[in-house]
Amino acid sequence: MKKSFDIVIVGSGIGGLSTLLYLAQTSVFKQGHLSICIIAKGALNQTNTNWAQGGIAAVNAIGDNFEKHISDTLVAGGFANNKQIVEKVITAGPGLIDDLIQWGTEFDKKNSNEYDLAKEGGHSESRIWHKEDQTGKAIQDALVKSLHTLHNVTIIEQTCVLNVTKQANDSFGLSLYDTKNESISNIFCGKLVLATGGLGMLYDKSTNQHLATADGIYFASQLGASIENLSFVQFHPTGLYEEGQISFLISEALRGAGAVLRNELGEAFMYKYDARLELAPRDIVSRAIIEEIASQKNSFVYLDATKVDTEILNSHFPAIKQECLIRIGLNLEKEFIPIIPVQHYSCGGIKVDEFGETSISGLFAIGELACTGLHGANRLASNSLLEAIAFAKFAIPKLTQPNKESQNVEMKQTLPIFKSIDKKAIQHIMSKYAGIVKSKEGLSKAFEALSIIKENAAVLNKFNLENFESNCILEVAIMLIQDAQNQTTNKGVYYNIDLV
Ligand SMILES: Cc1cc2nc3c(=O)[nH]c(=O)nc-3n(C[C@H](O)[C@H](O)[C@H](O)COP(=O)(O)OP(=O)(O)OC[C@H]3O[C@@H](n4cnc5c(N)ncnc54)[C@H](O)[C@@H]3O)c2cc1C
Repeated sequence: MKKSFDIVIVGSGIGGLSTLLYLAQTSVFKQGHLSICIIAKGALNQTNTNWAQGGIAAVNAIGDNFEKHISDTLVAGGFANNKQIVEKVITAGPGLIDDLIQWGTEFDKKNSNEYDLAKEGGHSESRIWHKEDQTGKAIQDALVKSLHTLHNVTIIEQTCVLNVTKQANDSFGLSLYDTKNESISNIFCGKLVLATGGLGMLYDKSTNQHLATADGIYFASQLGASIENLSFVQFHPTGLYEEGQISFLISEALRGAGAVLRNELGEAFMYKYDARLELAPRDIVSRAIIEEIASQKNSFVYLDATKVDTEILNSHFPAIKQECLIRIGLNLEKEFIPIIPVQHYSCGGIKVDEFGETSISGLFAIGELACTGLHGANRLASNSLLEAIAFAKFAIPKLTQPNKESQNVEMKQTLPIFKSIDKKAIQHIMSKYAGIVKSKEGLSKAFEALSIIKENAAVLNKFNLENFESNCILEVAIMLIQDAQNQTTNKGVYYNIDLV
């Protein structure tokens, strides 16, 4: 296999794949002067992108405009957003939807001319482009199909990047672990795009794929890149209450269609917390649910979709309807759905400029692992798919700048020492002390407990993938706690009972 590339992209979600497809549109690629490799830890479609339900936000409908979408994004983000970035992303939105459609994504239509745009929490207008409740799958499938039409791209699946180093000639060295053959190899590249997605596995309940172990954030921090706002973790208010670490997401769009939150007595309660009721931003709804749970016996509340029109349930929410039945034997047309808030999305991450480049020259971060300034202290629903594809496009001018001439130095790549670490212990600490409601004391306890785990961990005799992931989780968890301890006010998703 080829060992050296102009660009390596790590990750095959919307961030990685759309970066690749935009690169494929450049003349330098078409002329055969750009060698690109894309790597995925699992199969290409094993991504959080594939699981996105609600859709992607962009202005289109009559009555909507950029100013309203910008304003909704700033309000949700507690005005901690970078306004210039918000404007740049939101105004790019309609063009990005066109790109997705050109790559083969099908969005639902009302009729042959008009798209069926939905409304979600925090949005003042209907602007969510969707495909039933499986929009992510529609996007992922289309992007993977487009990728397979390209002949001169190296695609490596079922392979985990374990380590990234900066070489003496300024290129990047990557250690790869082939999970099928259990073999380790090295590759090198002039520019590196990290698109490894979220950090859901830091917590014991999440909507994310098991692959979301914060690997890219760990690599970037090892290289010395700036990391920002890691403690701005969004919890989704309505994860299905079920066994296991992964909780099936009950999309916000169901509340948009009229589903109501109820306590164990069957009483609606959102009126006590916010005038926007069920469609208040996620942090407000999540905290309201936590308060209700604290004052009742059950450790969950209900989402009542029984009054939502059957035709709408069938046409807009077939997957949710089916998953409720398969997972917990529940008919949502007749019964209330038990739900709890669960970890969902990382608003912070690797700090990037307006081209998606990190503080390390040649290192880019695209997608959920990046902190672009769009979300501020809280992500507005359906703005994350938009952010990923927007920065994939914005990155192209910098990514296609010629790499520095190789200085003919030998490139070396070694593996760091991995330690034996109990992933579950970290997840438990994070869920207990760094969840929706934090305190100064809890954060100190978390920092101490994580530091002890790190100090006492024994060096691994034999490498295994799970321990690599546990190492990433531990390092990123410690950074997240430190970031939480540095916050001085409550804003957006960040809530600490000892702060105002
Ligand atoms: C259930 C659910 C529903 C959602 N609904 C919506 C929605 O409706 N609208 C919206 O805007 N957002 C939604 N989101 C959020 C959104 O889906 C994600 O933020 C977005 O898809 C992330 O894309 P990404 O490209 O950054 O990462 P992902 O799509 O998660 O892809 C990550 C990729 O990185 C690879 N990878 C990771 N580590 C390594 C490694 N060490 N080596 C090699 N490869 C690696 C993985 O294999 C994968 O290919 C939802 C998220 C979830 C979980």
